[in-house]
Amino acid sequence: MKIYNSSTHKKEDFQPIEEGKVRMYVCGPTVYDNIHIGNARTFISFDVIRRWLIAAGYEVTFAQNLTDVDDKIINRANEQGRTAEEVAIEFSDKFIAVMHKANVMDPDVRPRATKEIGPMIGMIKTLIEQGHAYAADNGDVYFAVRSDPSYGEVSGRKIDDLMVGARIEENEDKNDPLDFALWKAAKPGEPMWNSPWGKGRPGWHTECAAMVHRYLGTPIDIHGGGSDLAFPHHENECAQATCAWHEGFANTWMHTGMLLVDGEKMSKSLGNFFTLEEVLEKHSAAALRLLMLQTHYRSPLDFSWERLEGAENSLARIAGTVQNLRWAVSHAEGEPDATLAAKLDAAVDAAKAEFEAQMNDDFNTAGAVAAYFQLVTEANTYLDQAGSAVDTDVVAGAAVSIAGAFAVLGIELPEPEEELPVGLLGVAAGLCAYTGDDVNKAAERILAARAEARAAKDWDTADAIRDQLRDMGLMIEDTAAGSRIKHVK
Ligand SMILES: [Zn+2]
Repeated sequence: MKIYNSSTHKKEDFQPIEEGKVRMYVCGPTVYDNIHIGNARTFISFDVIRRWLIAAGYEVTFAQNLTDVDDKIINRANEQGRTAEEVAIEFSDKFIAVMHKANVMDPDVRPRATKEIGPMIGMIKTLIEQGHAYAADNGDVYFAVRSDPSYGEVSGRKIDDLMVGARIEENEDKNDPLDFALWKAAKPGEPMWNSPWGKGRPGWHTECAAMVHRYLGTPIDIHGGGSDLAFPHHENECAQATCAWHEGFANTWMHTGMLLVDGEKMSKSLGNFFTLEEVLEKHSAAALRLLMLQTHYRSPLDFSWERLEGAENSLARIAGTVQNLRWAVSHAEGEPDATLAAKLDAAVDAAKAEFEAQMNDDFNTAGAVAAYFQLVTEANTYLDQAGSAVDTDVVAGAAVSIAGAFAVLGIELPEPEEELPVGLLGVAAGLCAYTGDDVNKAAERILAARAEARAAKDWDTADAIRDQLRDMGLMIEDTAAGSRIKHVK
């Protein structure tokens, strides 16, 4: 398996530290608002990466923090006249709920910054003892960036270049403008904890380094996040961890590309800003995931409602094919053509091999999905050509393979409802004088009545059957292997 390491700018053969095991960490949200679809892209991408590592046989331990103390949370609380804790709890709960809705697996460990103050203070003490950090007169503690000879390796920057262009806050308490806060002295009205340097709270970069060390142990195999986190957040996490424990921090750094809306940067002022929650109110998680996975995780992703609608249609087509394959198996009749079946069987093998090759090549989900779109086309061709004389083993295998591949990506295909509604009996009774109580028999009678009406060119009856079914949310689908009644999706 090859993974692009953003700190070396190369695709590398993935070699976990411990045979068969992967320890990975992905920075979680700062919980002051609902997450937007740009954040969602990062979390869905790493969910798929994690799912593929598991499918490839690794035992994966996945940790993700919740940043529940931060300037943004405090500002939001002040605006709304609430406590920072209330804001953090509300948006932590909303984040977890919307991740479930998006079919993102729960992390194995989900530490919260406010519950990890002790380990963070411990790390800061270690850094001070080793000459990598210092307490300023104002009660802040800063990391001395120039004390770390490897600073800049995560994001590929040189210290001297940072001095030029970087937006560095002037602060007379720092020894060097590049230094960053590990601990922030308490201000009135803010959440605060006791420390050897007086009351205060931890800096953002400090929490991830301390949590990675505590829950996964350093170094870890994979550290991920959005590309906007590479600098300064990941650079600073890495500097603290390597200077405190001298074990290295993360072997592979992975960063997701940004999300655009209709080709433009998403922003509230442009009116093209969407939360994950509002997108999932209108569309299925499966369609959103399919849209996202059709672009490689490192490339910019263009979101639009039209593309999402398109993904919804693709999904319906794939699910329809899987249903048709299953239906053909249960209604098979006649001797199957061996040449046609062999061709479909070969297409199933080819799709599986291509899917694996693409996923093992830096999680190229776009290529992996394309391989199965191709198989769906081949399966439809087979059903058209074979009619009801299908090879049930091959056809059942194709259905399992298609549904299984999308399931690995966390895309659940819409399933048809098992039972047709009881109201169907009413239609059957009205149109076919049917008096039994079995819905499937009623369906058969309706189809037979429609076929009879069409054969007799009695279009009024045929249309009446169609209309009554439509009023019940049902439609008749004519396939090469015969007709059936199904729910309109
Ligand atoms: Zn982080």
